[in-house]
Amino acid sequence: MKRILCYIFTIMIIFIPSISSEPLSTANLVALTFDDGPSKYTSKIIDLLNEYNCHATFFVIGNKASVNQETLSKIIDNGNEIANHTYTHPWLTHLNVNNIAEEIEKTNKIIYSITGIKPKLFRPSYGDINQNTRRKINMQIVMWTNDSNDWKYKNYKTIASRVIKNIKNNDIILMHDTYERSYKALKIIIPKLQNQGYNFVTFSDLYEYRKMSKIDGY
Ligand code: ZN
Repeated sequence: MKRILCYIFTIMIIFIPSISSEPLSTANLVALTFDDGPSKYTSKIIDLLNEYNCHATFFVIGNKASVNQETLSKIIDNGNEIANHTYTHPWLTHLNVNNIAEEIEKTNKIIYSITGIKPKLFRPSYGDINQNTRRKINMQIVMWTNDSNDWKYKNYKTIASRVIKNIKNNDIILMHDTYERSYKALKIIIPKLQNQGYNFVTFSDLYEYRKMSKIDGY
């Protein structure tokens, strides 16, 4: 009897871990990204992310970060990621090399002084970038693959249904944490996509996963 119990126990040890942990290759990951904050809606969005155990990347504007320091800290304290979205939200391709550097460095300094974190990711304002501008930027540039167009559509249901209709594995979803309607759309998007098996992670976590899985980079 003792022998049989020992045998059963050994089998359990061998098989239980592989049963309980889902293989990473089947994970449906998407990255939620927010531009143009922090704003008065950012804190509510973080609370919503917490409610659903999600994480996101916030591309902040430097001159807004400096006047919303508590919110900036809240982004980090809740396991989210902060990235650089320029200091004044200009059309980068219209600027010279010194002005581009200033836009980026001023924002990196503010983020570092408030959170102690040096941002690695950059998203150009208006997505305005070309090859020449790219060469002047010494950060990882992150665009998007699923555009909510929440700046354009005024109805939160329209915003939510666009994102949900177009969703695919490894998507980078672009939203703005500067509109009430974006927050309301998220309240539909998150539970709906979680029910479809998607997990919301920061861009860096999605990127690392893609590298590990040898999926093409962005
Ligand atoms: Zn922007």
